[in-house]
Amino acid sequence: MVDILSCSLDELRGLFEKFGEKPFRANQVFDWVYNKRAQSLSEMTNLSKGLRERLEKSLAFPVMDIAQRQVSSDGTEKFLLALEDGNYIESVLLKHPDHTTFCISSQVGCPLNCSFCATGASGFTRDLTPGEIVGQVVLMEREQGRPVDNIVFMGMGEPLLNEDSVYKAIDILHEPAGRNLGMRHFTISTAGLPDGIRRLADSGRELKLSISLHSVDDTVRSDMMPVNRKYPLPVLKEALEYYQARTGNRLTFEYALVEGLNDSVDDALRLAEYLKGLKSFVNVIPVNPVNAIHKRPTDAKIQRFIETLKSKRLETALRYERGTDIAAACGQLRQRKGGRAWKGEEA
Ligand code: SF4
Repeated sequence: MVDILSCSLDELRGLFEKFGEKPFRANQVFDWVYNKRAQSLSEMTNLSKGLRERLEKSLAFPVMDIAQRQVSSDGTEKFLLALEDGNYIESVLLKHPDHTTFCISSQVGCPLNCSFCATGASGFTRDLTPGEIVGQVVLMEREQGRPVDNIVFMGMGEPLLNEDSVYKAIDILHEPAGRNLGMRHFTISTAGLPDGIRRLADSGRELKLSISLHSVDDTVRSDMMPVNRKYPLPVLKEALEYYQARTGNRLTFEYALVEGLNDSVDDALRLAEYLKGLKSFVNVIPVNPVNAIHKRPTDAKIQRFIETLKSKRLETALRYERGTDIAAACGQLRQRKGGRAWKGEEA
């Protein structure tokens, strides 16, 4: 059986041709799945009953359930999703006045073990399939009864460690016969893997790219993000320069501001120096004040940091984490649940 959500339009066309059917039938199926939000082949009434019965023997609709849902006082919704094999992943829906952003996972767990991340702390289980990535979006749009506007790969996992599935999922959701979501509505958020950044630049996909930077001191960054030991800041910078030379696209940098760790004026000046020559936008995100390991800097220090960046003509914005009252930080729900679903569990 083939998972229908892992199928590209061309693959589906090939299947129809094998059945002696016109390939355009695949376009009809894409329209049912991605626009009409059908949950089974039996709903696809413009396909003959005989064809639907034959397809049922080849195509499976994957099962993904909402195991837990939390709604924050700021409207952010967090979902723990149970996969068919009993693993859990997380996704977060951020609602803004004029648009929604859906933050999705690319892996079950993550091997990169960043010090501030609950997903990293619980280790890596496996990559998601293209269908499991697409399935998060399909499930959420069904649930909300409307399309989501932007998709960010900022949930569980490092998307550049599961590139084939991530890009196939994006291409499926981008397909004009189906969901038709523009490439600029997707953001890849990476811990900074130089080879993956170069491959993305070469792929021709006009996605947005965001880098979790957090420090421009190799010692500090390696403590926060062990991947920095393998790919220190100068190596990352070369890849970013390559990306920008190839694509011309602006880069977004995430910078979690932590008291006494990376929040001094000198840190801000060094950050500006590191980003010299790159077209960039910096999101400064003071850590959640209830974070047990890291403390949030005072408002005065936060403002001084921002002003220093602005004085160096860096485009920057102060952002506060959303959904802090519902443990919206990636990996926390799954960690509480013990990492895996079990048979017969109540949703
Ligand atoms: S922050 Fe991202 S890259 Fe780091 S461990 Fe968590 S999921 Fe992985």
